[in-house]
Amino acid sequence: MRQATVYIDSAALQYNLNRVKQLAPTAKIVSMVKANAYGHGVKDCLAALSASDAFGVACLQEALEIRELGYQQPITLIEGVFVADEMPIVIDQNIEVIVHQQAQVDWLLAHKDAYIAKDLKVWVKLNSGMNRLGFKIDVIKDVINQLKAEGFICVLAMHFANADADHPLNDEQIRQFLEIKNYCAPLMGSCCNSAAIYKYPELHFDFVRPGIMLYGATPFADRDVHDLDLKPVMTFTAEVIALNHIKAGEHVGYGSTFTAEQDMTLAIVSIGYGDGYPRAFPKQNYVAINGQQTRVIGRVAMDMIAIDVTAMQVKPGTQVELWGNTRLVDDVAEANGTIGYELLCRLSHRPLRKVI
Ligand SMILES: *Cc1c(COP(=O)(O)O)cnc(C)c1O
Repeated sequence: MRQATVYIDSAALQYNLNRVKQLAPTAKIVSMVKANAYGHGVKDCLAALSASDAFGVACLQEALEIRELGYQQPITLIEGVFVADEMPIVIDQNIEVIVHQQAQVDWLLAHKDAYIAKDLKVWVKLNSGMNRLGFKIDVIKDVINQLKAEGFICVLAMHFANADADHPLNDEQIRQFLEIKNYCAPLMGSCCNSAAIYKYPELHFDFVRPGIMLYGATPFADRDVHDLDLKPVMTFTAEVIALNHIKAGEHVGYGSTFTAEQDMTLAIVSIGYGDGYPRAFPKQNYVAINGQQTRVIGRVAMDMIAIDVTAMQVKPGTQVELWGNTRLVDDVAEANGTIGYELLCRLSHRPLRKVI
């Protein structure tokens, strides 16, 4: 049987969650498990993350999956509900909403008594310059004051556009967040994703919202997971299914883009873009065998790649790490012009999944 496998290391997940606790000892932790726990499999990850104070997801569907799996922690819908009909379900299932526009405030007010009776918090989103979702600074004061006057427990929520970098917008976003937090005091606050948890210890406030760091990948372009003291959770592997000796001058793969400069040994590995392994072209992918990195030769196909194993001890059945502890997903991402987040989220259903 084809052996492309995604291993999920639950001890690493727990280790990374503890890192959040160390870095943000006074804040509650909303573990972000949207997009099937960043492609890691929400079912397996929830077990390892059950010490979280709450979970964050992108839509009702994802929240209901958590409830069906039996977890009772608070859940926040980070984009709120999409239609009014979702409100009664949200309340019945003890799910908290963000409000980022007036229609959502109206839906919430229409269910005020039931929502408040369940002690659910309302997350009110400030648009401080990312210009995705949220109320602008000049209107959010009224929204929060109205919700507070109606008896709602509010959390001011904000998201950085550049938490991973030094950018002049950071100071402006912080300034707006603090202005609202003070103006509407007392008011709980939450503005830190993974990068901001590291970068702004003074801004952890009531709730931090770690995502990528839990999974042991980096939110920064210039700091790797070892530097951040995180452990990669996912190891993505496949097996060698054939060996192929080629002579100088021969080509490899679709488009015959690779020409051997000398005689070499290739291993054919049963992995491809049909599994979510990125195509890199025209850049260069590397994989690892027993802790040693080697290059991918020619184009990545749907089901197979060729790798250079000249002078390596390899046979059919040898395990190849596409990413994991040796070849970091962040390095694979870099070689493919993307970020670890994308590679993790866009794995296909084809690889087997195993929890260790
Ligand atoms: C996804 C998300 C996070 C987590 O971001 P990371 O960079 O993965 O830590 C935090 N807050 C919001 C609103 C998000 O959408």
